[in-house]
Amino acid sequence: MSGAELHELGVAEIGRALRERRFSSAELTQHLLTRLSTHARLGAVLASDAKAALSQAGAADAVLARGEAGPLTGVPLAHKDIFVTDHARTGLASTAGSRMLAGYASPFDATVVARLAAAGTVLLAKLNCDEFAMGSSNENSAFGAVRNPWDAQRVPGGSSGGSAAAVAARLVPAATGTDTGGSIRQPASFCGITGIKPTYGVCSRYGMIAFASSLDQAGPMARSAEDCALLLSAMSGFDERDATSAERPPQDYHAQMLQPRAGASAARPLQGLRIGLPREFFPAALATDVNAAVRTALAELEKLGATLVDVSLPRTELSIPVYYIIAPAEASSNLGRFDGVKFGHRAAQYGDLMDMYKKTRSEGFGPEVKRRIMIGTYVLSHGYYDAYYLQAQKLRRMIADDFQACFSKGSQGCDVIAGPVAPTVAWKIGEQGSDPLQAYLADIFTLPASLAGLPGMSVPAGTGAHGMPVGLQLIGNYFDEATLLQTAHALQQVTDFHTRRPL
Ligand code: GLN
Repeated sequence: MSGAELHELGVAEIGRALRERRFSSAELTQHLLTRLSTHARLGAVLASDAKAALSQAGAADAVLARGEAGPLTGVPLAHKDIFVTDHARTGLASTAGSRMLAGYASPFDATVVARLAAAGTVLLAKLNCDEFAMGSSNENSAFGAVRNPWDAQRVPGGSSGGSAAAVAARLVPAATGTDTGGSIRQPASFCGITGIKPTYGVCSRYGMIAFASSLDQAGPMARSAEDCALLLSAMSGFDERDATSAERPPQDYHAQMLQPRAGASAARPLQGLRIGLPREFFPAALATDVNAAVRTALAELEKLGATLVDVSLPRTELSIPVYYIIAPAEASSNLGRFDGVKFGHRAAQYGDLMDMYKKTRSEGFGPEVKRRIMIGTYVLSHGYYDAYYLQAQKLRRMIADDFQACFSKGSQGCDVIAGPVAPTVAWKIGEQGSDPLQAYLADIFTLPASLAGLPGMSVPAGTGAHGMPVGLQLIGNYFDEATLLQTAHALQQVTDFHTRRPL
């Protein structure tokens, strides 16, 4: 197989080809390492260690030679740099896109990282992201913006912007991401790839540098639902080191995805599937190109047997103020640990302890992170707690209840809820200027599922304005990742949106 074809292969195909010994993991790894270095201008890669990667590939090749390989043995991938990676094992720093952690050598692997390593994957690189995962454009990274491979003038989305750009540009077949309020789904949508944020608690948060602990969730970003299913099976599962990890047996999402639905046929694999379209997800102000692409994908799902039903999520708009109170509140607490004492940046010159804290934090954090720490501290402060934080918590529950009304058998009985991932295609780098509110408002369609803790997915649905990709969002009930993957997989069997790539 020629080098030009190697980087076009997805996770499932690579796994099969490696087991058939059509090429080795070392050959593929070397090919992709070269590709990473020739595409440095994309800004997606923060760190890569060729020696460590090739040694992991060599170990995988030995497992393959013994005939003991699993579906992911020898498959190269990259991690969002919000996951810590054992520096001694990987040779890679863990930065969260922040000056605060520049060069930070973690003494351990995040659980998600350890599980993917145990499945035999090869770690190629750590990928750029918005600082501490706060943002929607990757412009908040201390290490520079990432370019959208479809148009280098545009953002890749965020905060998992490096992951989305690297997968779309065929630098890596797959990457990890994290999603607190949309950070897997929105960049996947902006870059035309497939990504899933599982139910809160499905993937361990251990070793994921914390932003908002009640919302943070890891997930795979790849080129197809099938590839996401393979990765999610390896990444997920109970972890006693995460207090909010869901106690469930290991899941084979790939097998679940392929399980035929009751009453389905080959031509109508989604027969009986009820897809709710919340009218609040299709407002008059929705960009016409996004609306058209989403409607086209929905029409395909209908042809596959699904029924579309009108539903309402009346508190959709409120999810913006609710999220932008709760997430900063949790961030202000989580980021308290970066004080220059135990790890991370410490100011070179300071007077007393207070001065050391102040200078360290002023130098280490970027403007968006500082803004969130201030908002979060304010909404938690005595006198404002009841008016903001407590009120937001009550509304969060009501937002979750609205979803349950759509899913419950007694009323709408939806299996899936669908709509756009974002109100527009990717915007231009710098276009939002210094107005953070603009970016916050664009999170409107991803925040509700995050606040409710529900699984959500972005599936390519063609292109909109300027030839930029548009994502269809699918939201499922708790722990029903299988139905999302099945719906996306069925769509990807009959359409080519997910195979389209930037030139
Ligand atoms: N854009 C949202 C924010 O800035 C979501 C980020 C995320 O999911 N990590 O907070």
